[in-house]
Formats: sequence, C-alpha cells, structure tokens
Amino acid sequence: MSLKDGAVTGDGPISRFELLITPDLAEVDRIYMGLSRAGEGFVLYGPGLKGEGVSTTFRAETDAASVAVPSSGAIDGYVFVGPRDHVTDNGDSIVIAEPQLAPELDQAARRAFSQSLAFYKSRLNLPLTQTPVLAISVDSPGPSLFRGDVTDTGVISIRFKGEGWRSAQETVAPFVWHETFHLWNGHGVRNRDGDTDPWLHEGSAEYAAITGAVSNADMSEDQARAALSGRLNGCRRAFENAARRRPALRSGSAVYDCGTVIQWIADLELRRTGQRDFFSLWSEMLETARGREEGFGTSDFQAALPDASLVRLLLDDAVEDRWDHIREGMTRLGVMIANAPGDKDLMMAALFHVAKANCPSGSYGFYNDPGALKLDGENCGPLSGEPVIDAVEGFDPQGESRAMFVAVQSRCDSGLSVRYRTRDGRTLEAACPNKLPVPQVWQVAEAPAFAR
Ligand SMILES: [Zn+2]
Repeated sequence: MSLKDGAVTGDGPISRFELLITPDLAEVDRIYMGLSRAGEGFVLYGPGLKGEGVSTTFRAETDAASVAVPSSGAIDGYVFVGPRDHVTDNGDSIVIAEPQLAPELDQAARRAFSQSLAFYKSRLNLPLTQTPVLAISVDSPGPSLFRGDVTDTGVISIRFKGEGWRSAQETVAPFVWHETFHLWNGHGVRNRDGDTDPWLHEGSAEYAAITGAVSNADMSEDQARAALSGRLNGCRRAFENAARRRPALRSGSAVYDCGTVIQWIADLELRRTGQRDFFSLWSEMLETARGREEGFGTSDFQAALPDASLVRLLLDDAVEDRWDHIREGMTRLGVMIANAPGDKDLMMAALFHVAKANCPSGSYGFYNDPGALKLDGENCGPLSGEPVIDAVEGFDPQGESRAMFVAVQSRCDSGLSVRYRTRDGRTLEAACPNKLPVPQVWQVAEAPAFAR
C-alpha cells in the first residue's frame, strides 16, 4: 500500500491502515489546519480524513483522562482530542484551553465568547443548532500572530503564535466576537456566494463584532470609529488600485475593508427607518435561508436594503466620482468624515509625487530606515543611486514631514525643482512639474453610536 498524490492505494482489498499525522508546520491562506496543537491536546480537521465516495465516521479512542469534543458528528469539522482538564462545559457552550494559559488571554477570550453568544442570540433571535465550542491555542506555527476559523461542527478554533497576542491584546476580544458571528452566518446555513463574494460573510462578521464589542465594553466608540476609518481607507485604496472600477473583493484585505463598510452603510440606512437595522436584516435573511436549499447570497442582502441604498455605489462596477458621492451620502447618514493625513502619509505623498515625475520607468520608492531615509529606484535621474537624504527643501523628511510637505507643495505648485540634501553633502535638484495634492486619508470624526 502506498500514499501517493493524496490517495491510498494497494494491490488488493484493504481492510485497515494507519495514518500518522503530525501538526501542520504553517498557517496557509484561508485553509483549515489539518492538525494543530491546543495545549496538551490536538484539534483535528475531520473532513481531511473523509474518504472520497465512501461514508466515513470519526471515533476517538480515549482513556479516562482524555476526551473528544464534540462527541458526535466530528467528521464534518474540527474536533478536539486531548486532556479532559482542558475542557470547560458551560452547559450551553464549551471552552477548550490549557489550564496554564495566560489568564489575560484566557479571560478576555472566554468573556467575549459568552457575551457574543448571548448578544447575537438575542439580536438575531435565532438559536444555534449545535453546542458552540471555542478552542483557544497559543501553539500556532505562524506566520500570522492570530488565526481563527469556524467549522460546521460549531467549533471555533482560535490560534495565537506564542506570546504574539500580547502586542495586540485589545484586539483579542473583537477577534472572538468576529469568529462567533460566523456560527450564525457561515454554518448551519448555506451561503451560496461564500467563495465568490466573501465580503458578505466576512464584512458582516466584522461589523457585528464591532457593534457587539462596543455594546459590551470590549471596545470604545472611539476605537470603533478608528476601526471604521481604517476600513474606509483600505476600501478606497482597493478601488484606486483597480483603476477606480469595482475590485473583485474576492481576496486580501479589501474583502474585510469594503465588506465592513458595506454593512455599516446598510445599518445606518436601516436604522433611519426606525424599525430595522443590521441585525434585523441578518435575522430575517438567515431565518429564510435556513429553511431553503439555496440558502442566502448577495442578491438577498441587496434586496433587503432600502431603495437607492449607498451600498450600490460600492458594488456597481463603474461609478463617476464614486467616493465623493459616498462621502456626501454618509454625511446625510450622520457620519462626518474629515481628511486627516498623518505625518507619515504626508511624507509618503511628497516623496512619491516627486519620484513619480523623475522616475519615468521602473519601480521607485524609499527605505524609511530610522534616521537614514534612503531613496530607491534606478531610473530616477538626479534621484538615482540610492542616496541617503538628510533634508528636502531644508526639512528632515522623517522628523519634519508636515513642514517638508508644505515646502514641497509650494515648489511644485510653482513648477520649481525640489532640492534634496544628501548625507554626503550634495544637493540634488529634482523636477516637479505637477501640483502636489493633499493625500486623502479619511478619519471618521463623528458617527451615530455603534452601541445598542
Ligand atoms: Zn471571518
């Protein structure tokens, strides 16, 4: 018998074989982990063991000190197999974590899990079909610091790479809030557009997480506005990179950025009606989807929006002055957006603007090494040769970026050259024939409360 190209084959009939599986060595894309560690136990992905074209059951052989969770149906998703002392049964939910887990992480995750279950249950008014399980692990092989996914068995696996979570401790709870929402919008119900339009389930999980976390003191209104500012900017950049047409929203951060903005707009519009909101929309859509084969998809979501919804401006392929219209529309919904580029945004805008005019072909940029900003780009006229720059128009680009931006802007507006002073004492004169616009980096200054 041999295992080749993912298939076990033999010359004669087979009645029994053993597979020795070791934990995966890396988190890859959005793919479920085949086997990962959780303390002294393991989380196994059942579907990875399913035979093709044959019915497969999963049965764990455990001793008195160990346990398998969930105890039935495990072939369809994650199953934890490991020490009994890792498992806390809360009656309506189960948490798995090694007893030695850092208490800050353990408590934040447990609290967010139980609060998110209660909040979504009451807001969506839909019971879960399985007992939800949260497995917490700090044994992820990486490379990412955080990973989480949810399977059809109602098991959420969240995996941190060692102590990496400490550098982003405030995001642990919202992360759990996000994953818990997938128990409703991704499992026990069919999302027919899950592969082609992941912005629908990811954006709604993220928006639900923000709303829920703010409502339960796991996030402040300020943090929520900052999160939405980041999403807005990320989404706008995705459109810019797609030459202002609608990007596919199928992979990368645009799925989450644009997806969250779409759900936020939907919520703001629905709340204006006084009777509906994000949660009532999802409640109705999911309840309908549970009772039918075709489940739910983007067309159901769009059909549930008010007429002339701003969401159309984000989903239509080509829209003239798209972001101006979105910004105006959001103002009417009570969202005040200020343009507030930071020091680094201004530095990047000025340096890239001048580089673009001087580097007619090939790539260009700069290395922002502390105290030694170095230009990059081979075909950049006077800026070639990777010079280290001490000053641009007399200002330190790293320490005085705002003043540098204003000075460069004034030179470019008059069509004058921009003067770079190098560390080795030379002055480089770079042409700047085009006006330098202020970069657009939006900040949500005011917004209707996220808490409810
Ligand atoms: Zn997600």
